[in-house]
Amino acid sequence: MSMNTSERPTTAAAPAWYELALCAQTGPGFFFPEPGSSLRDAKRLCGACEGRAACLEYALTNDERFGVWGGLSESERLALRPRD
Ligand code: SF4
Repeated sequence: MSMNTSERPTTAAAPAWYELALCAQTGPGFFFPEPGSSLRDAKRLCGACEGRAACLEYALTNDERFGVWGGLSESERLALRPRD
């Protein structure tokens, strides 16, 4: 079974920081908006999230390509990756 990359970790596999995740209360659609739509609301929520640092680290470590993680968009996370 392939994993849907547009979903947050499931409860069974959730990392510890996910208990702090504010996005767990909003549903994934908020953090995976349609292309071209605003990320402002999602980023604002990340700004108030206690799990933000761990969330961003998780996304970078696991090469999450889609949506907002740790307050950063896909392109913003891409900019943080070391270049080969
Ligand atoms: S930083 Fe944002 S994406 Fe990450 S857990 Fe918190 S609310 Fe969710």
